[in-house]
Amino acid sequence: MGQIIDGKALSAAIKEEVREQVLSLEKQYGRKPCLCVVIVGENPASQVYVRNKVKAAAFTGMESRLEALPEDTSEAALLELIAALNADPAVDGILVQLPLPKHIDEEKVIDAIALDKDVDGFHPGNVAGLWLGKDCIVPCTPAGILRLIDSTGLSLSGKQAVVVGRSNIVGKPVAKLLLDRNATVTLAHSRTADLGAVTRQADVLVVAVGRAGLITGDMVKPGAVLIDVGMNRSAEGKLCGDVDFASCEPVAGWITPVPGGVGPMTIAMLMVNTIRCFRK
Ligand code: NAP
Repeated sequence: MGQIIDGKALSAAIKEEVREQVLSLEKQYGRKPCLCVVIVGENPASQVYVRNKVKAAAFTGMESRLEALPEDTSEAALLELIAALNADPAVDGILVQLPLPKHIDEEKVIDAIALDKDVDGFHPGNVAGLWLGKDCIVPCTPAGILRLIDSTGLSLSGKQAVVVGRSNIVGKPVAKLLLDRNATVTLAHSRTADLGAVTRQADVLVVAVGRAGLITGDMVKPGAVLIDVGMNRSAEGKLCGDVDFASCEPVAGWITPVPGGVGPMTIAMLMVNTIRCFRK
């Protein structure tokens, strides 16, 4: 039976550490780190994420600002706000909640965020830094996934790691972080032939697809570490992952639940990244 990797508990411990760091940074520099979250429009899921991020910032004692803009905000107005936040010495981290309304070019907005305030690590400069092995801000969800794997005590060196999903925000950066730890990494996606044959090789299996129950117990190597990034809503509105927990849990060595796995870690790592931006 798989042991549960408790993302909620690990996230709470990290936020507690951040709280202590905020106190000591304030003593040292005379001000607290400040995270500014920008949301455009009324997307209900985005509003929940943004609320949770601001709540976490408040828990750690850091300053937070919420810039909530109406759906019809122009791209130029949003870029103007980003420029003002870039220039504001009281703001350390800027997060623009995605997705943005269709009339706004997301790439342009992300590119406009100052590299050293890019708490999400989505700016091309930080993406390049990650792939070139330079000091950079690592995206929150991938960084949180590595912390979850580390909490099992597994050494990744020489292990087979399979990542299902190749998005720029999860799949690809997770693959690079696993590679940096000397795992042998396979990236699977929608065109992968015989996905089960690939995932059964995995000592560590990270699934970031967005399809409820895609991974079933017969696709998992016995004893594997199984990280479920998926956040899907069932017909009854219940939050569920990409992994069929009931059939995978008896096979896996370690497994993250949904909710309570990767989700809380993403927020904890956002706090860690804000501290990092402050120090920069
Ligand atoms: P995305 O951009 O939609 O990418 C999905 C990936 O899954 C693509 O690479 C796609 O392959 C692949 N895929 C689709 N169907 C597949 C199949 N049947 N078999 C194998 N691969 C398949 O997704 P994302 O932004 O990475 O997010 C993935 C999931 O993670 C979503 O549920 C999202 O809500 C969740 N998420 C959670 C957090 C968190 O904090 N917990 C953070 C981010 C995302 P192709 O490239 O070939 O199309």
